[in-house]
Amino acid sequence: MSDYRDLRISVIGAGMGGLACALAFAKKGFKHVDVYETASNLGFVGAGIQLAPNMVRVLDRWGCWESIAAEATNIRSSSIREGATNRELVHVEMPDIAEKYGYPHCTGHRASLAGGLYEGCKKEPAITFHFSSSLAGVTSFGPDKTVFTVQPRNAEAYEVETDILLGADGIKSAVRTAMLRVLNVEADVEDTGQAAYRIMLSRSQMEHDPELLALLDADCALRWIGAKRHIVAYPISNKTIYNISTCQPDVNFAAAPGATYTTRGSKPAMLKVYADFGPTVQKMLNMVPEGEVCEWKLRSHSPLPTWILGAAALVGDACHPTLPHLSQGAAMAIEDAAVLAEVVSSAPGGGDDREALFKALKVYELLRKDRTTLLVDLAAESARTLHLGEGKAKEERDRQFLNAKKRGTPIPDKWASPEVQHMIYSYDCVQEARDKFDELYATLADGANGHANSGSNGHANGYANGNATEVAA
Ligand SMILES: Cc1cc2nc3c(=O)[nH]c(=O)nc-3n(C[C@H](O)[C@H](O)[C@H](O)COP(=O)(O)OP(=O)(O)OC[C@H]3O[C@@H](n4cnc5c(N)ncnc54)[C@H](O)[C@@H]3O)c2cc1C
Repeated sequence: MSDYRDLRISVIGAGMGGLACALAFAKKGFKHVDVYETASNLGFVGAGIQLAPNMVRVLDRWGCWESIAAEATNIRSSSIREGATNRELVHVEMPDIAEKYGYPHCTGHRASLAGGLYEGCKKEPAITFHFSSSLAGVTSFGPDKTVFTVQPRNAEAYEVETDILLGADGIKSAVRTAMLRVLNVEADVEDTGQAAYRIMLSRSQMEHDPELLALLDADCALRWIGAKRHIVAYPISNKTIYNISTCQPDVNFAAAPGATYTTRGSKPAMLKVYADFGPTVQKMLNMVPEGEVCEWKLRSHSPLPTWILGAAALVGDACHPTLPHLSQGAAMAIEDAAVLAEVVSSAPGGGDDREALFKALKVYELLRKDRTTLLVDLAAESARTLHLGEGKAKEERDRQFLNAKKRGTPIPDKWASPEVQHMIYSYDCVQEARDKFDELYATLADGANGHANSGSNGHANGYANGNATEVAA
């Protein structure tokens, strides 16, 4: 082989990160991209998602932004209100995001984002999807061969030899489990103590109430905050749906086994958690049909010593799961994919030099780890700020909100902060990879990605037999 485009790329998982990996490699001209997904199809969680400019920049390069944009809402302001009183603490106008960063900040349906990526993939003959097919174990991470086992739902397991293995298999990543086992490292999924209700109200439910209709028709992302809880709401799907996502202390999952991440919630329990929030919130929560309350466990992961082993790399929630409070989880997974395709294409040796490929993957980690760690930390910090209960810290926060409103001083919330927005939205992950590849590659000694220790068997356990019915978080 002397053309890197002949490399065999295997992607585990067809969530946002996996779909993006497949598309990123196909767009770079790779001819053999296989995606293995436990679920039988792309069944989408009914929920909204924020589409930040740094994500949109990547989608646009792949030619799949236009269809997503057609039904997205361009968010032009953000408002934070006290949950109990509906008093506005701060209102941030952001009419010029597209002018500043080249792309707008939008909200959309998850099905629209995943569907846009999937439609893009379907146009690429290089990509083959294997649904109802789970990664069951990794036989070898290299250095010579990278081999893993696939377990189809109703057929015999089979082995696959690949050149690059990408673990885009989410927070419960089996690739990560196998990798850590080979490295003899203990790092576990962590409990955040937080859970989220996800709600979608239709226009027909809201249109008879002028106050609610005004919310649906505004280009505003709203938050109502209270002690240990908050609610985020924005319009999606051409303003036919109002998407509401909450965050509150987890009580229902605390005693549940680790494998459970979503559950049918109880409406009375949900109403009780937000009982002290004002009438607007009450009206909306009461519109949720009994039996359609969906609650999600929010989990994170203890820091990983590496995302790379031999010819394998982790992507998205598999290596940097985040609390959703900065709306960057899927954006980071999509950026990871774009950077991976860029660095693998840049590796010297045209695909023949495996050591060069291993080092290129290490460059990916070097490019991505500090940034994603920073964003994960900022998301956690946002939660601490928004969730303050009565006391001096809350008084100080509200004073800062007031000053921001009156004098334009910094906003204590990270998502709405123009400074943080600038840092996140102006970032062009592909340009950075192009600019820094040679310099970072040159710093790496042979064996820099740990493959020297990786000859042994890394069979994953547990998750691979899961019966996922939904794709994406
Ligand atoms: C409440 C909430 C709100 C959020 N809001 C936003 C937002 O506004 N903006 C934003 O950018 N992000 C947001 N996020 C984060 C975002 O949803 C996730 O970070 C992102 O979807 C992760 O994508 P992923 O592909 O890494 O993982 P996942 O979406 O979890 O995909 C992993 C895939 O791998 C498959 N899989 C797992 N194991 C195997 C196996 N062994 N073999 C084969 N397949 C396997 C799974 O079935 C799944 O399809 C939010 C998250 C939450 C919880």
